[in-house]
Amino acid sequence: MRDENQQLHFDTRAIHAGQAPEPRTGAISVPIFQTSTYVQRGPGEHTGYEYSRTQNPTREALEQCLASLEGGTHGIVYSSGMAAISTVMTLLKSGDHVICSDDVYGGTYRVFETVFRRYGLEYTYVNTSDLEEIAAAAGPATKMLWVESPTNPLLKITDLAAAAELCRSRQWVFVVDNTFASPYFQQPLALGADVALHSMTKYIGGHADAVGGCVVTANEQIAERLRFTQNAAGACLGPFDCWVFLRGLKTLGLRMRQHEANAQKVAVFLEQHPRVRRVIYPGLPSHPHHQLANRQMTGFGGIVSFYLAGDVEAARRVCQATRLFQCAESLGGVESLIEHPGIMTHASIPEIIRREKGLTDDLIRLSVGIEDAEDLIDDLDTALRSA
Ligand SMILES: *Cc1c(COP(=O)(O)O)cnc(C)c1O
Repeated sequence: MRDENQQLHFDTRAIHAGQAPEPRTGAISVPIFQTSTYVQRGPGEHTGYEYSRTQNPTREALEQCLASLEGGTHGIVYSSGMAAISTVMTLLKSGDHVICSDDVYGGTYRVFETVFRRYGLEYTYVNTSDLEEIAAAAGPATKMLWVESPTNPLLKITDLAAAAELCRSRQWVFVVDNTFASPYFQQPLALGADVALHSMTKYIGGHADAVGGCVVTANEQIAERLRFTQNAAGACLGPFDCWVFLRGLKTLGLRMRQHEANAQKVAVFLEQHPRVRRVIYPGLPSHPHHQLANRQMTGFGGIVSFYLAGDVEAARRVCQATRLFQCAESLGGVESLIEHPGIMTHASIPEIIRREKGLTDDLIRLSVGIEDAEDLIDDLDTALRSA
């Protein structure tokens, strides 16, 4: 069944993988099995379903679909991206060392530093775009490499195949947070990663209406341990939210193509705008990792960052002046969003470090939605001129 699905194209698998019609009624939409327990014929004589933390048919459908789309054999879904990240950390034990991208999602940095450090895990943050920096950070206790590519909000790219080779030679677990690219534009497992991870809250859900996370792997040992820990520790996703994400997945390809087409147009427009100092988008030839992104991704995604020719007040005014781009955190939904990383998503990073990294006060991040590109460009143009 899964092998058969693997030969079909992405858009077909998004709609059919794990989603056969329900056998009793023929319902074409996977039913929401909103139940905590399952009646047994006699003690121990169950149908394969005992309790919904352990097994739930709606969740299984979503997990099978995700496994197919990421090219893995196991998908496991969690109550949030952070719950997925936290459960992956339980693959390690006290004393183990993790090398991590220095530009990771703020919540990832926070849980590593304030929660898992207390249990004896060690973290070193390096620019993973530079393989030599990764190698230089390695020690005898290193057990895992954690990479985000593209990163948030500077959209730096790591050579995933090269990093995977390094991990293989050192027997490190290689985890890629694939949230920004989505499985449609990037397949970390095919490039050699052991684990691909998502905040499904972003592109997979795609409608800014649910919080969830997932892990996909083709490594049986890792899958078994994560599955065991999910049930033991309990960070599972409810049936209704599983259904919401299944619905989101059906249009993932369609949406990503539109996100990218719009983002490309917005990036080109901003690059020639007199009020803009510099645009960061992996699809632009001016991006420092454009060639690498072109090689390892099938598209450049929907996030565009840019530096304004102006100060923090001008940046604040631009974020307030757009009418279609709503000023909000998060990303990946059909609606376009604008945000100021220094004041909003990345405010917890000390200012001095922010400046060093390039997260200056004139930086603005866009999550380009799937509205009409011309309207989006007009909106930005008006806001830039008025600010
Ligand atoms: C949002 C996000 C997360 C955290 O996911 P939640 O669903 O908010 O818990 C992790 N990684 C990246 C790259 C994200 O953008």
